[in-house]
Amino acid sequence: MRASTLFARTLREDPAEAEVPSHVLLLRGAFIRPVMSGVFTALPLGLRVLRKIEGIIREEMDASGAQEVRMPIVLPAESWRATGRYEAYGDTLFKLRDRHGREMVLGPTQEEVVTPLVAGDLSSYRDLPVSVYQIEWKYRDEYRPRFGLLRGREFLMKDAYSFDRDEEGMHASYAVMMDAYRRIFDRCGLTYVVVEADPGTIGGGTNHEFMAIAEVGEDLYVTCPNGDYLADTEAATPRAPEPVGELDLEPMVEIDTPGAGTIAEVVEQLGRPASRMLKVVMFDAGGSPVAALVPGDREVNEVKLERRFFPTPVRRFEDGDFERLGLVKGFVGPHGLPADAVVLADHAVAGGANWVTGANAHDRHVTGANVGRDFSVGGYTDLVQIVEGDPCPECGEPLRIERSIVVGHIFELGTKYSAPLAATFVEEDGTDVLYQMGCYGVGLSRIMAAAVEQRHDEQGIVWSKTIAPFEVVVVLANADDDRAVVEAERIYAELRERGVDVLLDDRDERAGVKFADADLIGYPVQVVVGKRGVEAGTVDLKLRSTGERSQAPLAVAATAALDLLATAP
Ligand code: ATP
Ligand code: MG
Repeated sequence: MRASTLFARTLREDPAEAEVPSHVLLLRGAFIRPVMSGVFTALPLGLRVLRKIEGIIREEMDASGAQEVRMPIVLPAESWRATGRYEAYGDTLFKLRDRHGREMVLGPTQEEVVTPLVAGDLSSYRDLPVSVYQIEWKYRDEYRPRFGLLRGREFLMKDAYSFDRDEEGMHASYAVMMDAYRRIFDRCGLTYVVVEADPGTIGGGTNHEFMAIAEVGEDLYVTCPNGDYLADTEAATPRAPEPVGELDLEPMVEIDTPGAGTIAEVVEQLGRPASRMLKVVMFDAGGSPVAALVPGDREVNEVKLERRFFPTPVRRFEDGDFERLGLVKGFVGPHGLPADAVVLADHAVAGGANWVTGANAHDRHVTGANVGRDFSVGGYTDLVQIVEGDPCPECGEPLRIERSIVVGHIFELGTKYSAPLAATFVEEDGTDVLYQMGCYGVGLSRIMAAAVEQRHDEQGIVWSKTIAPFEVVVVLANADDDRAVVEAERIYAELRERGVDVLLDDRDERAGVKFADADLIGYPVQVVVGKRGVEAGTVDLKLRSTGERSQAPLAVAATAALDLLATAP
């Protein structure tokens, strides 16, 4: 490929609409162009990167034994209603109607297609296990499309689905995919962690997220600097604090705290730390009151509470709930709760004593409230939202909270889709049995952006050679020098012959422009052929990742470029 004919007009300025480095650089480097919010055209350079990522994923999927299929994007709404996802996806689902008024959706993922597909054709236990995958564009009307390719409304995904006879088989298929995923992200050159995610209330099964570490990431995870703990922030459990030991129990005394309806205001008035206050957060679980007790400096992790009561829905108390039960919002104390309230306390509460808490009266608190004597707790459990600096449950070191971009997510689904879609196979004994399924997603366009987030500098992108649009660029620095042209063409031809993915920058541009573009676009290796070098019998080489420059004799320039490429990340 020659840059003179390549559709790639780079931009000198940072586009105003782009907030994060990957968006800025993918626009500036002429990889993508916007069409509308969350929808982009891939230019030739961008498409080359996507195709390379696609190639890696296809190889790993094929090696894992999964078979490629291609499912449609326009789908009938019926099956989406059958699984309840027509409603569950809500406005995120792109909905449309055909000329006959039939409802359809644009596929955001394809369980509703693949499940009947497999059930229709592979309906004997002898056909199982089977895994299929596709690499196809997905459509989601995201509430906030942003950050370029990181959160689009149209994005490229590899989605795979496994079908097994039993749970054991499903676990085995899952393990195979887990390995394939590691290889995919390793080969794409991403720095990532694999975190067991919260099973959630809907999915319910084991699932792991592959998180590419990045400052701009929207997803948080918890990690111990010693490397012995890694968890989803929703699921993370801090080590329970040591009990304070034998304390002299103070009497419980009611005090005036005028206008202090928040922890911060009580701290201010009493001069006691928030960690010594007992916060009582009220929830409604299917019509019954639930009190969650946590130290005043902690927040209740509602996901943990939801999981505990699942499938009963849990919501925070509204003003009417407080009134109905005669509770004073902002001044609830654990000693004045309704008799039928379920009282749950975080483990951290077990270690404390002499709490300051609400007095169940307006503008009043109590001091010296103690478990057992003044109030009772129905059970101790893990309720708090983890925060930076919490002790590691393994070693006690302060935990860190880091940001990441979720590039892959794998799930053990069990019969979540096979049950509502009545997808069964015939077992050896003749009975109809539901498939045990798994689903496995990777965002290709998101990998592309995540790779840029992880690998860029002031000058531009630093692609890993496995997904770079071209591995080597031959920069013809003086296009008006006949000998330089001849040498550049010769080196370009030799590199192509030797199987290198190479671009010749033969544009009628100043050398400075070509160097800046080479750095911006981020080819791993640059070979510079200039007038002065040619006269001296040399070419200049540059490794983009380190900026290291070297020289090689003209005659062996291609070999030198290949050697340098071998050292590129
Ligand atoms: P998120 O929490 O980021 O919205 P998700 O849980 O909705 O992700 P999945 O349904 O598991 O994502 O989709 C599988 C993969 O598809 C994700 O891991 C991600 O790589 C990619 N993906 C999901 N939504 C988008 C999007 N809007 N833009 C680009 N890639 C996406
Ligand atoms: Mg989503």
